[in-house]
Amino acid sequence: MKIAIAGAGAMGSRFGVKLQAAGNDVTLIDNWADHVAAINANGLMVTSDDGKDQAYPMTALAPKDVTTTFDLVILFTKTMQMDQMLTDLHAVLANHPAVLTLANGIGNVETIEKHVPRSQIVVGTTVWSSGLVGPGHIKVTGTGSISLQAVDPANFPNLDDIISTLNAAGMNASPADDVMAAIWKKAGLNSVLNTYCTLLNCNIGEFGALPNWRDLNDAVLDEFQAVADAAKITFSASDVTTLIAAQFSPETNGGHYPSMHQDMANHRPTEVDFLNGYVARLGKKLGVPVPHNAILAQLIHSQEALVTAK
Ligand code: NAD
Repeated sequence: MKIAIAGAGAMGSRFGVKLQAAGNDVTLIDNWADHVAAINANGLMVTSDDGKDQAYPMTALAPKDVTTTFDLVILFTKTMQMDQMLTDLHAVLANHPAVLTLANGIGNVETIEKHVPRSQIVVGTTVWSSGLVGPGHIKVTGTGSISLQAVDPANFPNLDDIISTLNAAGMNASPADDVMAAIWKKAGLNSVLNTYCTLLNCNIGEFGALPNWRDLNDAVLDEFQAVADAAKITFSASDVTTLIAAQFSPETNGGHYPSMHQDMANHRPTEVDFLNGYVARLGKKLGVPVPHNAILAQLIHSQEALVTAK
């Protein structure tokens, strides 16, 4: 399959390497000029679990330099970069590729459908992970899986082809029954762990050891529940709380600092507007009180402003 990875950071690069190794024709597309230059000069450097480095020759392009067509565009920018990337890829999208995103956060479908008909969009969640070491260099850990669904299944007959392509690359993909429920579940988890660990400057285990972690958790998730109920989205605050509690031990994710914490440490914008911020906006629109998520999104934005000013 001819595949573009639009947003070839940590995750996009990991997906790109795996899909190319399985025989697909993969192009990495990215707006970070140093990253694109490093990949074209030296290949994509991948540090694996055992600490070994291997360089993979890959083609990387800035969006403005893309002239070919693709069967599939995998969008792996951060959520707040998605609209710009889709704007930059206007000419590529005119050829009607399928567009898949597994990015975190709620609201990605609304962003993509401004540029692409719903009948071409596939969304999902993934527990694969990856980190950026620097331009042209990623560090990958463990394995993962993917759960995905076409936004308009009746008009998207080729989901099996995409799933087969991902699975031929060893990516453990399967169809989701209710992808919006999966997206909200992951966003609920991230809106607790990412947001509080960032504000409190702690890892997941330290958050879980706080005597009031449950009060903090419930302040976020009770509002998620009320908004999801009003929007008719399947959501269980108690299931998400159980999932969160399962992350606290050192054997799971206790020692891990969530991605929002890392973004803040690197003085990069966070995805909070597509987590607590999204629920705050939707709650306001639906007349559901959302004071905790609204103030948490504001606090993250205040912290972003403070670290950027330093
Ligand atoms: P990333 O920050 O590594 O890359 C996203 C984009 O930002 C890329 O276009 C990248 O080139 C650009 N970028 C990164 N650092 C930059 C820098 N210093 N200067 C200029 N541009 C830079 O993001 P990611 O971790 O690949 O995440 C993509 C999406 O996948 C997000 O929605 C994220 O929440 C989600 N996700 C990530 C992981 C993970 O383990 N990283 C796991 C699951 C889901």
